[in-house]
Amino acid sequence: MNKATRKTVIAGNWKMNMTPSAAAKLISELAPKVAGKNECDIVLCVPFVDIDAAIKAAEGTNIKIGAQNVHFKESGAYTGEISAAMLCEVGVEYVIIGHSERRQYFGETDETVNLRTKAALAAGLKVILCLGELLEARQSGITEEIVSMQTKLDLAGLTKEDLKNVIIAYEPVWAIGTGLTATPEQADEACGVIRNVVENLYDKETAEALTIQYGGSMNDANAKELLAKVNVDGGLIGGASLKSDAFAAIVDAAQ
Ligand code: PEP
Repeated sequence: MNKATRKTVIAGNWKMNMTPSAAAKLISELAPKVAGKNECDIVLCVPFVDIDAAIKAAEGTNIKIGAQNVHFKESGAYTGEISAAMLCEVGVEYVIIGHSERRQYFGETDETVNLRTKAALAAGLKVILCLGELLEARQSGITEEIVSMQTKLDLAGLTKEDLKNVIIAYEPVWAIGTGLTATPEQADEACGVIRNVVENLYDKETAEALTIQYGGSMNDANAKELLAKVNVDGGLIGGASLKSDAFAAIVDAAQ
């Protein structure tokens, strides 16, 4: 595995936090702290209504803006949903798909994750595709099976070319927002499982080029150790992305 050839991506997931004015303030605080830190891509995935303010605040900086979901239909009677074309037109580059909170609270399935991913890629967005096992699965010793199955179902029908615009975020559900973090070894192992599945589905070149993030209570104190692992190419960060100092320290850990 050649970690050096892969893009490290540090992405924040603000979840349902921050009004547009708070978003602009946080980005203007963060920007000078991460200026010139070009060893990783820096992305903030913000609530839909914050996108405009976030893009304006991030103009001229090395911070890119993403959304937290996208619908798979192009348009129509889908009240409350947002299409990929809408995101592109307002300047969004990335979109999170399949976050465990969407799977847990909003009925997201591997099938809809796959449909959303296809729609986002077709529109030219980069996808941060989240998957990971529940605590019961880890305790039952079936993490590998679950993560492998999710990878296969979520990527079904995607081409090698599509994979160039996909980042996979391995997010063990038991570690998200709980303060529990996977050990660097657990994170590396699961990210390695995903990479192997991708190699079997596509080829070695595609697998080695794929950015695989770890997410689950990553913070300024544990980021360095997690990011040092050969299969961990970045982080998807919830809570710690809401504080400019903590998030900037994670970006530092990725340099
Ligand atoms: C997340 O929202 O994807 C996440 C990993 O959250 P936290 O860092 O708060 O666990």
